[in-house]
Amino acid sequence: MADRDPDCIFCAIVAGEAPAEIVDSDERTVTLMDINPATKGHALVIPRRHSEDLLAIDDDDLAACAIAARRVVRRMEEALDPDGFNLLNAARVAAWQTVFHFHIHVIPRYEDDPLKLPWIPRGADMDEISAIAATIREGQ
Ligand code: AMP
Ligand code: ZN
Repeated sequence: MADRDPDCIFCAIVAGEAPAEIVDSDERTVTLMDINPATKGHALVIPRRHSEDLLAIDDDDLAACAIAARRVVRRMEEALDPDGFNLLNAARVAAWQTVFHFHIHVIPRYEDDPLKLPWIPRGADMDEISAIAATIREGQ
């Protein structure tokens, strides 16, 4: 994959050809405000180089995005005084990905914000969990 995808909105933002509120950047990453924020301060950390998703991004870009996400969290802690944070990545359509340039959502959380846990915790069948764990381990 080339560093840039000509049809990608986040690549256009990295290139300075599309508008964005950029709040942090380094040689590998850019962090911009999400245009449809879930909470006050919702931002997106993206690699400068185009990678479609978590499966495609290389280790160095992924590490740089993780480090940038924590840097932004620390900055938001000072600037916004939130009560907590979620980091979220969506990989592929089934997992809610809508922009196919890897990104980590940095979502400051507030005691009175409207967000809900996106899954319903259920009782565990330990035999099933063990069997799935074995399948995952075999894939190593
Ligand atoms: P996802 O569903 O995980 O792929 O998240 C994509 C996110 O990108 C959504 O939260 C959108 O609101 C956000 N988004 C899409 N286009 C832009 C844009 N031009 N500038 C900033 N955020 C954007
Ligand atoms: Zn891109």
